[in-house]
Amino acid sequence: MKKRHIVCLTFDFDGISGFIARGQVSPSWISRGEFGPRVGMPRVIELLRRYGIRSTWFVPGHTIESFPRQCEQVVAAGHEIAHHGWTHRSPASLTRAQEEAELARANESIKWLTGRHARGYRSPAWDLSPHSVDLLLKQGFAYDSSLMGDDYTPYYARTGDVIELDRKARFGRETPLVEMPIHWATDDAPHFEFVRTETVTRQGLMNARLVGENWIDDLDYMCRTTQWGVLTYTCHPYVIGRGARMMMLENVIKAGIRNKVVFMTMEDAAAEFKSKKA
Ligand SMILES: [Zn+2]
Repeated sequence: MKKRHIVCLTFDFDGISGFIARGQVSPSWISRGEFGPRVGMPRVIELLRRYGIRSTWFVPGHTIESFPRQCEQVVAAGHEIAHHGWTHRSPASLTRAQEEAELARANESIKWLTGRHARGYRSPAWDLSPHSVDLLLKQGFAYDSSLMGDDYTPYYARTGDVIELDRKARFGRETPLVEMPIHWATDDAPHFEFVRTETVTRQGLMNARLVGENWIDDLDYMCRTTQWGVLTYTCHPYVIGRGARMMMLENVIKAGIRNKVVFMTMEDAAAEFKSKKA
């Protein structure tokens, strides 16, 4: 079999919604998020245009309704728009009814923006609730991208796991929902975001060249060790959109080109996985 490797560049276009969900609503916190739609997004779109890459943008309904013109630019540039909640609250913090309502509300925002409902979902804060997989299937989603059970191989998400402290794990059944796995190591935010609150200081602010080396090694390793694989990178326009990090992202793209990978939207990569399994 001929080797084939796919890279999904994905962008969680949180705008200011992530800060609001954590109660960080002072002008300074808001300005940090605002950098995404104002500066980061146009830079990323231009970079992807230069390399002819289509990517996937997970956009909260809050961002669509607060920054509609900027979201329209992403659509006009040919990128996939996928679901990332309406508010940026973790589904694990919501009741089933609240989670269902959030899914439907943000899907209407996406339909307004693109003319159709989302095919893919990524949880804000990357935490699913026990109901998420069922609700995603009920609302017609083809894939999720919030779990970490693999690195280069998509898989089918389970529902109905029973996990208790003092009993053996009882795993539920596999569903038709394709899981496109992610990991914190290939997410820009944990490496770069400096956060200081009353209770927490997270240093972040890593050297972008060093992070880029790790990201490229993850890609090289996929190409060396697998026949077919998908590697997903997650970036946030307000994080990646600064000089050194934009250069890092471009270096990752160049490494992909050297390795002859195919850059794809997540929707297309999930479909390719499904057709291989069929
Ligand atoms: Zn997010």
